[in-house]
Amino acid sequence: VMQGQMQQADPDLDRALAPAHRAWEALRQYALPPSPRNYELLHTFFAGANPPLSERLAACLAPGGTLTEEQASALYDACIAGTATEASVLDGAGRLAEAAGTLAERVAGSRKALAGYGDALTHWSGRLNARPTADELMTALVALIGETEQAQTRNHLLEEQLSVSAAHIAKLHKDLVETQRAAATDALTGLANRKTFDGFLRDSIARTRSDSGSTFSLLMLDIDHFKGLNDRHGHRFGDQVLRLVGRLLSAKTTDRDLAARYGGEEFAIVLGEAGIGAGVALAQEICGRLRGQRLVKRGTGDVVAQVTISAGVAQYRPGEAARDVIERADRALYEAKRTGRDRVCPTPRAAVA
Ligand code: GH3
Ligand code: MG
Ligand code: MG
Repeated sequence: VMQGQMQQADPDLDRALAPAHRAWEALRQYALPPSPRNYELLHTFFAGANPPLSERLAACLAPGGTLTEEQASALYDACIAGTATEASVLDGAGRLAEAAGTLAERVAGSRKALAGYGDALTHWSGRLNARPTADELMTALVALIGETEQAQTRNHLLEEQLSVSAAHIAKLHKDLVETQRAAATDALTGLANRKTFDGFLRDSIARTRSDSGSTFSLLMLDIDHFKGLNDRHGHRFGDQVLRLVGRLLSAKTTDRDLAARYGGEEFAIVLGEAGIGAGVALAQEICGRLRGQRLVKRGTGDVVAQVTISAGVAQYRPGEAARDVIERADRALYEAKRTGRDRVCPTPRAAVA
């Protein structure tokens, strides 16, 4: 009987199972460890539930592409972990709104109660103005004392509730600030993430529109032969190098600029109020600093061969779109790679208006 039931075709179930099957097949095909992260990555991809992931992972799975453990990990961080933090920002905002709503209800409730107290005072002061007898005076006094005590109790209660609510809101606010920071940051290097970079670039372009005197340069930097470094010294050492580059980039930029992890082992700097000359100078300084660094493997103390980085620099041309300036800096980076790496290439002179 079981057998018969199991063989019965159920198109809904088949459809639901398809991404799961394909995810397991891909895990096997690319020899990825069957971890929950890898499975979630592939399942999300085959379910088609995450367009940015679809675009980037499709390129890896295309003929001639690769999907290594590192790539899978980087994709997970960029496309899945990131969206989760965004969800938690929304969640945090929702809880803050809820707490504010509760507070508003309490204040409205107490306003109504205080209005009742005001009415009682008006009522009794009217009666007292009409030459009351000693008995009436006594009655009024007792009533007023009662009303006042009630109002005091209500006020006291409200004060307590308000202070609890205020503490609750302060805590939620602190959490929200922290989640927002996390959502804007790359967890490994502490630099801005791709999303923050996109926003900053958009804002920088908008600024050149409102202030025609302002300009900026874009640096794209990519660690040389990083795959080999990972292969020789392990992924953890690779991560250590990424963090080192992250520290170097944030030390070399100011509040006017933005240093970001653009993807895997690729970084970007938006250099505020800087022409191509200043952009190239900074890129060269970064290249030089990295070249001169002696890298020691954490734990073993082994000195590891040099790590170098290549960079392409473009100055923003008034009117061009974000993707155009990125593409020009990328092409210059490719030129730096092609001509030997460990060097900086500006966009060709003719290309700079
Ligand atoms: P090139 O000089 O041409 O840039 O060569 P490359 O080896 O640096 O470039 P390639 O794009 O072939 O390899 C980049 C490697 O970076 C592949 C990937 O395994 C690794 N990678 C990407 N993200 C991470 C990460 O978060 N940690 C580690 N350790 N490695 C990563
Ligand atoms: Mg590289
Ligand atoms: Mg690269």
